[in-house]
Amino acid sequence: MDTDEYNPFSIAQRQLDEAAERLGLDEGTRELLRWPMREYTFTLPVRMDDGTTRIFRGYRVQYNGSRGPTKGGLRWHPDETIDTVRALAAWMTWKTAVVDIPLGGGKGGVTCNPKELSRNEQERLARAYIRASARMIGPHTDVPAPDVYTSPQVMAWMMDEYETIRQESRPGVITGKPIALGGSHGRVDATARGGMFVAREAAAKLGIDLAGGTCAIQGFGNAGQYAALLAGEVLGLKVVAASDSHGGVYNPEGFDRKKLVDHKLFTGRLDGFPEAKPISNEELLELDCTVLFPSALENSITAVNAPNVKAKIVCELANGPTTPDADTILHEKGVFVIPDFLANAGGVTVSYFEQVQNAYNHYWPVDEVHRKLDETMTRAFAAVHEMIEIEKVHPRLAAYMVAVQRVAEACRLRGWI
Ligand code: NAD
Repeated sequence: MDTDEYNPFSIAQRQLDEAAERLGLDEGTRELLRWPMREYTFTLPVRMDDGTTRIFRGYRVQYNGSRGPTKGGLRWHPDETIDTVRALAAWMTWKTAVVDIPLGGGKGGVTCNPKELSRNEQERLARAYIRASARMIGPHTDVPAPDVYTSPQVMAWMMDEYETIRQESRPGVITGKPIALGGSHGRVDATARGGMFVAREAAAKLGIDLAGGTCAIQGFGNAGQYAALLAGEVLGLKVVAASDSHGGVYNPEGFDRKKLVDHKLFTGRLDGFPEAKPISNEELLELDCTVLFPSALENSITAVNAPNVKAKIVCELANGPTTPDADTILHEKGVFVIPDFLANAGGVTVSYFEQVQNAYNHYWPVDEVHRKLDETMTRAFAAVHEMIEIEKVHPRLAAYMVAVQRVAEACRLRGWI
């Protein structure tokens, strides 16, 4: 899938070009924003449990730091490439800008299959990554966080390694930490919760009553599981379908959401859940439901299946789940797509709150985090919606225009362009 059509970085550049054109940005600004400002690759030797050494390839991309320290997660995945990391770093730049927090965009990763690594091997990989990157990261330079297949425990090992190298307490070097080590209340479900807040705002603008409606969730990790729990709690939606990399389950009456999540946590997969029929990932994306939450990886909704999507709202908790061609098709069909870098910005927003609390060494109760997150997401949605109305463009382009304008202004004020 690494043709230009599916290469995530080519997609990110295409999306930016459209916004830049619409905003009338000059050539220098466009070229600056099309590329990462810095990128690193690391060769990471890791001692395996059997005594052999395996060599892993790691990456860190600092895309644009004009609005503040670069910020973005670390993904451990067998398909991780420098282009995926570049794309995700670009999206982080637009994400921090669209929610207007004083951070830039970055991203990192390691090409590996964590499912094949023991806990001790994962710890050694986490520490090796920090040893390789310690000079380039820090609370005021570049701040990693969790992403696909990295957890609060991985963040804890990384913070420990960094503080061991620096010989001082610097919890703000990484976010998504366990609460006991300076993590923020409300971080664990922040991505999904932020998605619920913008889905609520979108439904209100579209005149859709969500209470009693239905939703389907593709991907059942951090984002997907909390989406299942919160879709009912915050929006009053029934969860009728969910899937993970092994396949999906379907119940038109709606699942007991807590039981579904417990089943996934206990068995490591969704299939086999009682009171459900099997459903393929393809069928799930085409279900007739009120809200579809893509919560897995890139390129789930393409020009092939977009004509069959029946959801009224697509709330992209995953990064890059919809290709540009599919975007056009969904827009023409009247499906309202809440673009990834707005829909899933709750994660980085609470990561930012975590950094603020680390800097103050003073911690907020969970209600305060939820309230501040709601305010931030609601304000961001309002800015994007205003752009939709003024410019008569689809939501992704409107969100890009809001974000790119803010980053371009910061670059201009710094005298870069
Ligand atoms: P995760 O590792 O916790 O979960 C990923 C899930 O996707 C797993 O359930 C896996 O089985 C499933 N999956 C993988 N391939 C699939 C496929 N082909 N079909 C269906 N399911 C599949 O990761 P996560 O943190 O939940 O991240 C998911 C998405 O959300 C990613 O795109 C990530 O970049 C994005 N995101 C996450 C956060 C966060 O705070 N966790 C923040 C912003 C964006």
